[in-house]
Amino acid sequence: MARYIEAYCRLCRRTGTKLMLKGERCFTAKCALERRNTPPGPHAAGRKRRPKVTELGQQLMEKQKAKYTYGTLERQFHRFFDEASRMQGITGDNLLVLLERRLDNVVFRLGFADSRSQARQIVRHGHIKLSGRRTDVPSCLVKAGDVIEWRKESTKSEYYKTLVEKIEDKDVPAWLALEKENMTGKVLSLPVSGETKTNFNEKAIVEFYSR
Ligand code: SF4
Repeated sequence: MARYIEAYCRLCRRTGTKLMLKGERCFTAKCALERRNTPPGPHAAGRKRRPKVTELGQQLMEKQKAKYTYGTLERQFHRFFDEASRMQGITGDNLLVLLERRLDNVVFRLGFADSRSQARQIVRHGHIKLSGRRTDVPSCLVKAGDVIEWRKESTKSEYYKTLVEKIEDKDVPAWLALEKENMTGKVLSLPVSGETKTNFNEKAIVEFYSR
């Protein structure tokens, strides 16, 4: 399965935005963007400012930020966009809702992982059951009423035991519910775009693909 192999912090430095791709490290002084807010590569060494970008360049950057944030590659992201534009309503909002409904994102939002990449790995390794069925497809979309739980065998792992202690402080978005006692999540409704804070501009993404 295709995935990003580039160092995650380089993606943040390229876009100049904290994309929060490395879990707890992103909240510490070790964050690469906090230490060096310049694009990666030797050509940027010593530069104090980022070069100006055109409007198209900015739209492209917004699309890249969304792709990096949710860990999707171009072809899959474009498929999401096509589906969003076929749906009723505002395309940018639809796109965000589709991205939020990805199983790996839901596992991350429930606090079962520190980052979406870790959530993707948890799903891929078959630790999660979606509405009673084991699934290892991170991009599958959840729907209202779906239940997300850990596979019984996976609850014996050290990771799971540490997670149970950490999950106490976790808040989840309003469209999800988390039963902390049995580490089970439920999708109460589909996410609403206005409620989801993002670090990219959906409108610019629509403009980029509509040019
Ligand atoms: Fe981005 Fe997190 Fe790396 Fe900072 S630590 S540059 S926010 S991935």
